[in-house]
Amino acid sequence: MKIKNINGTSQTTCACGSWLKHWEKFSGQTVVYCPVGGCMQKDLVGAHVQKDDSPDEKWYIYPLCSAHNKSTGVLEVSDAYRLVSANKKETCEKGK
Ligand SMILES: [Zn+2]
Ligand SMILES: [Zn+2]
Repeated sequence: MKIKNINGTSQTTCACGSWLKHWEKFSGQTVVYCPVGGCMQKDLVGAHVQKDDSPDEKWYIYPLCSAHNKSTGVLEVSDAYRLVSANKKETCEKGK
């Protein structure tokens, strides 16, 4: 799938402690390497992304290395990992 990074959001955190933990908790998955094709970096963060070429403009969390978290272009990433909603009211702060 193709995603694009939303820049300037990495400082905001949620009740999970970090956006990477948020992604692990709600995807039920873990990841060692950056899921961008050909990238083998392990310094992962939970990046805010949007789907590319989609009417869905919601914000999602997806694990990316810190270099790809700074990228501005469209990224081709593994379909094996799930996009998790970045909307706290739908996830870790649901019902609060
Ligand atoms: Zn969270
Ligand atoms: Zn990467």
